[in-house]
Formats: sequence, C-alpha cells, structure tokens
Amino acid sequence: MVRTSDVFDLLRDGRPRTRAQLAEATGLARSTIAARVDVLMKLGLVAPYGDGRSTGGRPPSLFALNPASRVVVGVDVGATHAVAAMCDLSGAVLSEHRSDLDVASGPEEVLGWVSATVGQLLAETRRPAADLAAIGIGLPGPVEHSTGRPMNPPIMPGWDRFDVPGRVQRDYPVPVLIDNDVNIMALGEQQTHFTDVDDLVLIKVATGIGAGIISGGSLQRGAQGTAGDLGHVRVLRGAGVLCRCGNEGCLEAVAAGPALAARLREQGRDVQTTQDVVDLVRAGDLAALHEIRQAGRDIGEVLATMVNLINPSVVVIGGRLANSGEHLLAGIREVVYLRSLPLATQSLRVVSSRAGAEAGVLGAASMAITHVLSPESIEAASAAVG
Ligand SMILES: [Zn+2]
Repeated sequence: MVRTSDVFDLLRDGRPRTRAQLAEATGLARSTIAARVDVLMKLGLVAPYGDGRSTGGRPPSLFALNPASRVVVGVDVGATHAVAAMCDLSGAVLSEHRSDLDVASGPEEVLGWVSATVGQLLAETRRPAADLAAIGIGLPGPVEHSTGRPMNPPIMPGWDRFDVPGRVQRDYPVPVLIDNDVNIMALGEQQTHFTDVDDLVLIKVATGIGAGIISGGSLQRGAQGTAGDLGHVRVLRGAGVLCRCGNEGCLEAVAAGPALAARLREQGRDVQTTQDVVDLVRAGDLAALHEIRQAGRDIGEVLATMVNLINPSVVVIGGRLANSGEHLLAGIREVVYLRSLPLATQSLRVVSSRAGAEAGVLGAASMAITHVLSPESIEAASAAVG
C-alpha cells in the first residue's frame, strides 16, 4: 500500500508537481492521489503552487512543500555559550538568539533558558505555539540519542542521565531530539554546504577532539551513541602521556587545546585557554605554529585509519582550533594522504568548516526538521486528521 508519506516524499524536494505527475511517479490512481494530497493540504505541509502547464482546457494544479507551514527551533549548547534559532521547514533561519551560559550551571538553569528563548522566538516571529513542530538540541557531551539523556558527561555536572526532553516538554509538548555537539555540527555542515555529499566526516578540534560521521547519507551514532569518539584513540606521540579519561596515549591528550597550551607554557608562552593558542598561532609565533602543525599530524594519524575504514568523500575540520588557519589542516593533510589507501584519497577533500560557529545550531534545527518530515511523523499526523 502506498502511504500518504510516500506522496509527501515526492514533494519534499520543493519541486511543484501535478496530481498526474504524482500518480505517474507512485503508480497510484488519480483519485487516491487526490485523497492523499487533500490530507497533506489539511496538515498545511503541502500547498497549491501557481498553475501547471496547460494541456488544453483547465490548467492542472501544482502542489509543493509549504516550508512556512510549521517552524522548529534548533539549540546549540556549548561549554560557556548557547545559540537558539527558529527555522522554517526548509531550514531557513527566521530569528536567532545567543547567550553566555555556563553548561556547568546545570540542566534546570540551561533548559529554563531554552524554554524562555523558544517563547521569545515565537513572539518575535508572531507564530502561535501550535506552529512549533519540534525542538532539536545539541549538548557538549555524550548523549543517548534514543532517550535524550546525557551519559557521564565530563564537563556537565548535574546532567548525568537527566531527562532533557521531559524538562523541555513541560513547557512545549512537541518532539524534542537531543544529540552531542559534534553530531549536530556534522549535520549542519552537510545540510548547508555539502548537500550533495553522502559520506562526510566532521572533526571538531577544541578542548576535546571528536568526530561526527555521516555515511550513506545518514548520521552514524553507533549502538550507544559513542561512534566517532576519536579523541581517545592511541597515537604514537602519546606514549607515556596520561589522558583525563584514565588511559594513556590518547589523541586528545597530545593534540587538543589544553595539551597545546600546556606545551607552549613550558616554552615560556603566556597561554591559558584554547583561544590563547589560536591567538598565538595567528600572531605567527613559531613555537605555536610548530605545535599546531604537529597536532594536525597527530589528528591525521587517527583520521587516516578512519578514512581507510569508512571512505568519506569530504572531511570537514571545525572547532575552535580550526580557526587558527591553514597550519592545522596542513598537518592533517600531510599524514592522511601519506597513510591512507590511494583509492580512498583519490577524490577525498579535507577542508575547513564552512558553516563555522553556525554549524551546530543549523544542524540541531535540521535534526528537528528531519524528524518532522519523516514518514513516521507524516503517517501519525495524517491518521490524526483522518
Ligand atoms: Zn583519553
């Protein structure tokens, strides 16, 4: 049986089509198509679009996705800041808010800000709460995606196993989807700048190091949501170096922001934060240039293995340390092209982030939109309107 969602799937690309074209593409009778289109119009997800080319007589009506019909909110919670954006169903940003917010202040305070901000965004865009279809939130730590609960997040005291969707749904009873910051950054890059790329890896290099993996067009979370955690893979230069995870030799312990800052302090530089390291690199300090390039090589060592295993066509380097310019990327490329199989690197692009600081919030919105437009959601909604 062809479902309402199958008809909708054809209209999702935004291209207007006639009932006849939908009938031809699905193999359904015109009367069945008419009934499905009626349901989608009742839901507001599909709207008439101009007029079709006339084949003599009355012109056939065209239908297309109506991106303005509903809105979603994407939220990117970082260690010390948060961004929330309201988007329509095409992912276009309608309004956005930023705030300095410490994730360590706990879930009640941070999620209270989320709820208040969703209210502000609705008010500013003059949309009733009924137009809000879903909320997507990225958090700076491991998350069990199926339940939306953070799992032993190292920099998020008070958040362990907290029911994040339940708290947000007290104020907004809509689907609330949660993922880690790196996964939503990968979605954000793919949805905004690499829409034709099905196999993309995003590596975030900041206080920690992690990867978001999109393979065959889908985000890969793994069994427990820890897929892509390459910060704790052992690297050659890490011998004898202790990591905050308790192991020794981890990539993060030699190549993330705090490790670089510590080594530069040993060389007499006044650096405390990851941003200080970036500033020093940008100022052309030779020791800093040397350290960041070597960090790139260390990341490249792990990435080369990953490239051999999952064969991405694009690797995007993001996170605060990626703002230091080409030196990090140069070190990464040097080792990846040397150590990966020729066939895997033949058309591999290693590039710096294009969505930049917006990647997370756009990815969170995209995660919400994907849920709203999924066949399961469309079927449930069409059953409700009969
Ligand atoms: Zn570790």
